[in-house]
Amino acid sequence: MESKKEVIIIGGGVIGLACAHYLLEQGARVRIIERDGIGEGASHGNCGLLYFTDVIPLCAPGTISHEIYRAFCGTSPLYIKPALDTTLLTWLIKFAARCRPGLMRQAATDKYEILRYSTGLLERLLEHPDLGCDFERTGTLTVCNDPRSLNNLPGKNVFLEAYGMEYTPLERDEILALEPALKPSIAGGWHSEVDLHLRPDMLMTAWRQHLTRRGLIIEEHAKLLNFEICGKTITHVNTVQGKFAADAFILATGAWAPQTAKQLGLHLPVQPGKGYSITMERPGICPGMPCVLYEKNMVVTPWKSGYRLGGTMEFSGYSTTLNTKRLAKLVKGATQYMKDPTGHPVIEEWTGLRPMTYDDMPIIDRSPAQENLVIATGHGMLGLTLATGTGKIVADLIYDKTPEINIRPFGLDRF
Ligand SMILES: Cc1cc2nc3c(=O)[nH]c(=O)nc-3n(C[C@H](O)[C@H](O)[C@H](O)COP(=O)(O)OP(=O)(O)OC[C@H]3O[C@@H](n4cnc5c(N)ncnc54)[C@H](O)[C@@H]3O)c2cc1C
Repeated sequence: MESKKEVIIIGGGVIGLACAHYLLEQGARVRIIERDGIGEGASHGNCGLLYFTDVIPLCAPGTISHEIYRAFCGTSPLYIKPALDTTLLTWLIKFAARCRPGLMRQAATDKYEILRYSTGLLERLLEHPDLGCDFERTGTLTVCNDPRSLNNLPGKNVFLEAYGMEYTPLERDEILALEPALKPSIAGGWHSEVDLHLRPDMLMTAWRQHLTRRGLIIEEHAKLLNFEICGKTITHVNTVQGKFAADAFILATGAWAPQTAKQLGLHLPVQPGKGYSITMERPGICPGMPCVLYEKNMVVTPWKSGYRLGGTMEFSGYSTTLNTKRLAKLVKGATQYMKDPTGHPVIEEWTGLRPMTYDDMPIIDRSPAQENLVIATGHGMLGLTLATGTGKIVADLIYDKTPEINIRPFGLDRF
């Protein structure tokens, strides 16, 4: 046990809770300041995949041309709202510039390290009896409707083999035997044994209770207004619920991080990537494992307690209004692959904002401007998967320990 540092975490998503977990383990006194309720942001209705095989960054060669083509045909899950937003435009140009083979290979290697680190920590975390969250080790299936899509597997496997995580290719009959909930018309796919899944909203509720019992203090509906700074040190935060002091601060405000960091003179190139999900009761013919519907870039996740369709990526600012067309696309997409695509009743229609960086890598670093601030955001499509690794790194930084993995790729000086 280390000394009793007072730490304030701004943002009560999965990243904020993971930081709290490892800080409490090191003996800190921890308070979370959350604008809404704990776990009501992107961490609530996501697809629940612990997607450890997702080493290839989004900014890969071919992404731009492929998605522009699909957007033109109206089949892309990607939507960019036409607007004169120079920050978004700059972000998109930088994203496009990253779509090169050499950069992709390096990013995959860097990403693998934090993925592997997070897996080990997560396995240990979920052994705790408090943290029941419909966790399962079934692996995932990637399912293709178009036989041409199957040609993309060998290239992907060349990458994954290097990390010992290659997928098993499956012909139509093999995949149908493994997952009878799929339509007989599908072309085939591949199976990963490495990926895991859980129910994110259950995890957030259970983790919150677990941490509260261990001393975590939570201030909800306490939007951060500003920081009080003395020299290079943050001394207090002012919120709509009052003023709080601490020795160290963590900024874990997800997609909203650029807004909170701006007050500190920090520019974080994070854009909100809006996604949607529909949670239902389990359908009559429910899949036994999560299915990534390849051509639709969407996920069907089954749990003992329910069933969720999730996906789409919309760059349209911070609006959290539910677009019924996007929700309908999820159902339409599932209908093309699953025998029984929807369960009844619908429990929740949801949208959330992913914190997207243009190199598809998280930001985990000390602030260059304030010596007692650590930033943890930009986890994009993998926040749930990378939460444990991030939380442990952040706790080590707060306690001036050298993190157990190389964190240079996640540093602010790369921008
Ligand atoms: C449709 C969809 C599917 C996804 N599927 C997966 C998946 O299968 N696997 C996976 O690993 N990831 C997935 N993700 C990504 C994952 O959900 C995110 O990366 C992750 O939730 C980000 O966590 P976070 O804690 O950074 O952000 P959030 O959960 O958004 O938390 C940030 C918190 O900060 C608070 N906040 C903001 N501003 C302030 C302020 N001024 N004062 C106080 N508090 C503030 C917000 O209210 C919010 O609660 C998915 C995302 C979406 C949208």
